[in-house]
Amino acid sequence: MTACMNEPAFSRFLVDWFAVNQRDLPWRHTYQPYHVWLSEIMAQQTQLGRVVGYFERFVARYPDLHALAHAQEDEALKLWEGLGYYNRCRNLLKAARLLVAEHGGLFPVTHAGVLSLPGVGPYTAGAVMAIAYNEPHTAIDANVERVFSRVYNLDRPVKIAANQAFIEDRALALIPEGRAREFNQALMELGALVCTPKSPSCDICPVEPHCLARSKGLEEVRPVPGKRTEVQHISVATGVLVHENRFYIQKRRLDDVWPGLWEFPGGGIEPGETPEQAVVREYLEETGVDVQPLLPLATVSYSYTRFRVTLHGFYLDFSQGFQQPALYEALEGRFVALANLDGLAFPAGHRKLISIMRTDARLLEILKN
Ligand code: SF4
Repeated sequence: MTACMNEPAFSRFLVDWFAVNQRDLPWRHTYQPYHVWLSEIMAQQTQLGRVVGYFERFVARYPDLHALAHAQEDEALKLWEGLGYYNRCRNLLKAARLLVAEHGGLFPVTHAGVLSLPGVGPYTAGAVMAIAYNEPHTAIDANVERVFSRVYNLDRPVKIAANQAFIEDRALALIPEGRAREFNQALMELGALVCTPKSPSCDICPVEPHCLARSKGLEEVRPVPGKRTEVQHISVATGVLVHENRFYIQKRRLDDVWPGLWEFPGGGIEPGETPEQAVVREYLEETGVDVQPLLPLATVSYSYTRFRVTLHGFYLDFSQGFQQPALYEALEGRFVALANLDGLAFPAGHRKLISIMRTDARLLEILKN
């Protein structure tokens, strides 16, 4: 590995560029630890541009730790709906309750204290310490890794241990005295806005004179790719069971994906099964109820983690008269009117089905009969 050409100048150019070019983000108005923590948790696996609206709605409803500690979980999950990785939201609530119950509602001021909170790992703890408290800590995310792999022209994948240790070491050493807040955000911002994964904008880059990959014409082939995660395609069937103008929904278990969210029962389509057969089998397995498909509702697609999901939705009826659904795979279950589905949080695919139901003339026919 090679040192970049002029490290002090690199840091200076970067923070000067950030002072002029930073995006106007709501948590940058206050740098309150509560706001920074919330923004960092929301930004995990999510682009900052998408986080802003969620952050503003969340802070409007829960302006401080005390308000968050007293939040209803269903309501908080609803505000989180669409952001994904719902355990992040549940951990925020857990952390707020812990801080209010055991620490007088005060946010921790040490790295160890922040790191001890549910849902906080080394990256988030470093980011909160640097951005909220301006303490010399690092926050190495994918943007920062990419910038360093180019500035130092790292010729092996950034995820290997030696490169991780190198990046951590240089990121700490390069923080200008008393400017950890600006420096860490400037690195992330440069990666997000200028040193982008494809076609980096080197012509307008403030650190171009200090970038080794650029000087060798290698910026497009850095970072060196690591092992790729294969996208897995899965097919799922789900059913909207109609009874007296209401629809059966159940709440997902906490040890499953999308913990605590609501859904229409259903599950994976097995080899050789049609979607109709799968929804009948899954309904019986999950609720003990014999159902029959009335009509296809819609087929929608969505992604989560490394999965690409095709979801086949059906309107269902009881095949042998009313039966009370059992909770074999869920925490709670209830029949709910269409208007009341809006107040509850659903995974992306089920939310898409609900949107379609709202304007589906065929549903009115089903409800009349
Ligand atoms: S010069 Fe280009 S490759 Fe180097 S840090 Fe700037 S944008 Fe990235």
